[in-house]
Amino acid sequence: MRILLLSDIHANLEALEACLAAAPSFDLVANLGDVVGYGASPNEVVERARGLGAIFVRGNHDKAATGLLELDDFNAMAATAAIWTRDQLTPEHLEWLRSLPQGPLALEDFPDVQLVHGSPIDEDVYIVSLGDALAPLITLPMPLTFFGHTHLQGGFFANGSSADGFRPEYRTVGQPESVSLQLKRATRYMINPGSVGQPRDGDWRAAFALFDTEAQVVHFHRAPYNLKAAQDRIFAANLPSRLATRLAAGR
Ligand code: ZN
Repeated sequence: MRILLLSDIHANLEALEACLAAAPSFDLVANLGDVVGYGASPNEVVERARGLGAIFVRGNHDKAATGLLELDDFNAMAATAAIWTRDQLTPEHLEWLRSLPQGPLALEDFPDVQLVHGSPIDEDVYIVSLGDALAPLITLPMPLTFFGHTHLQGGFFANGSSADGFRPEYRTVGQPESVSLQLKRATRYMINPGSVGQPRDGDWRAAFALFDTEAQVVHFHRAPYNLKAAQDRIFAANLPSRLATRLAAGR
């Protein structure tokens, strides 16, 4: 089975389409949350994402846009975007977003795998450092966790003798590329496919991953997309302009 892993699309339709066009063949799509928020195409992205399947966990921006999360913890830019998104979403899309399950979510047929937006211990917590990852890696029974939320592609592993973080190393800044990670036996992993719609690892290209369950290989991908079109939509929607400019920097 080949599972396409998408996370943090953030209403960026151009980035989502580029990922789907660049993705090798897949059998299943797993979505790790933040379908909306920040970007200017919430309804189009919800429609497209729903059409890909039914495996979703909710993200904090999905909750914020549907009123399940107070905006107190959001900065002004994120709160402005959440309110704008709430106003744009159709009643049906709002209802669908509101009903998304809280992670961690087990994956049918793959008892070793779980999906979550933030941390398996708390869906809203950011796993940024190895220190953040160690507790869930060591204490939880699940050998393989796919997560999002940080918008940083890569992850963490721990086994009997060592623990460390890793990031895929790419050769170009503007081409479609992929880097593969062979999973090792008796090792636990937390893996982030990166953000489709608002990468923050200094690489502007849309990020996603593909998990080959038989080969036990995770393929990390970056796909260039029509950045200007996504930015123009943000400007036209009168969303904070930084939400458009940051896309070019991947920050
Ligand atoms: Zn996010």
